[in-house]
Amino acid sequence: MQVFDAIYKKENMLQCKFSDNFIHPDYLGTEFPLGHHLINAILLDVLQVEKYYCNLIKTYISYLDDENESNFKKYENALFQIDDYCIYLHETTQVLLTAIKKIHPNYSLGDLIDFIDTFKPQEKLELTEQLRTIQKDGQIQLKGCLKLWNNAAGFLLDKFKAFTDTIYRDVFDICNSPAEVKGLDRLNGLDTKRKIDLFRMEFPTCLSVDLGNSVNSKFFYSKLTDEGSIVSSISQCSTEQLMYYDLFTSLEKDLPIKLCKNCNKPFIPKGRPDSLYCDRIMPGFKYKCVSIGAQNAYKSKQPDIEVEFYAARKRYSTRSLRNPILKPEFDVWKIKGREKLTAYRNGEISADEFRTWFMDDEWTKI
Ligand SMILES: [Zn+2]
Repeated sequence: MQVFDAIYKKENMLQCKFSDNFIHPDYLGTEFPLGHHLINAILLDVLQVEKYYCNLIKTYISYLDDENESNFKKYENALFQIDDYCIYLHETTQVLLTAIKKIHPNYSLGDLIDFIDTFKPQEKLELTEQLRTIQKDGQIQLKGCLKLWNNAAGFLLDKFKAFTDTIYRDVFDICNSPAEVKGLDRLNGLDTKRKIDLFRMEFPTCLSVDLGNSVNSKFFYSKLTDEGSIVSSISQCSTEQLMYYDLFTSLEKDLPIKLCKNCNKPFIPKGRPDSLYCDRIMPGFKYKCVSIGAQNAYKSKQPDIEVEFYAARKRYSTRSLRNPILKPEFDVWKIKGREKLTAYRNGEISADEFRTWFMDDEWTKI
């Protein structure tokens, strides 16, 4: 499906113009930062995105039931939320909303056959069964409709995940190329077959006037002005083509796409380019990788100073055993030592201050 009518390259952003605007009459296109939506697409946070779709389905059905301005705004927000998270889901959104619009409010199976036919046999069966139970006593059950569409959205997202598997592997292999390799040369990290496949991709470019200045990253027909700049652009582009165009442009611009040291998944640092950790909370983890990384770095420094501290404590303990007169002093020192250790761990005193304190063993020489 040619979802994108044109793509404009603008510094570290891409602007896309949609081929079809039936899901929102005024929504012309959007702009998004290079690389970041691509990473979101290949590492799709399915639980989060399912919530976005749940909201989209609910608000869209309410809007179809009553096309007032308030309902439209709610639906628009839900639509933009998904595009802002990952523009590559736009096609999935379009497919889903087309099906909803086609069948709502009558829900006759015949209107949905083409849509249902695109799914796997078991999924088809489930959707058909659900569709049959939506009508009760001649009435359409809203709860049943929401369940049907949420289910369909889940299947569409499974398809999207399967579709992005190949590009995920490509990005992963590129990230594994040696650090000194830069730019498009990082594609040498791919095996020969993949390299040949990618080299065959064509992106016919031409010069054209871009979409101008966005309103909160969106472009609307009603707000079009003559402020566009002349930029390099490509036309008629599928979701897959745009993803690779995004990847190649990100490499050309030397975006630091790398693997996170904690979760081993690709990311692009939002702050310092030499960051080693992403700022995601990966499944199975309680904290963001960046916090886990900071903790690990902290711990890795600990052994030196804490081992020194415990060695000093053992030394003083041995002396107090040999010289019982020192025992009361040592007991006081132990309590103080615990306080100092806590203060050091909390960052209230520096490692040097801590060391100066526990290495001062004048009192043990009595
Ligand atoms: Zn991570």
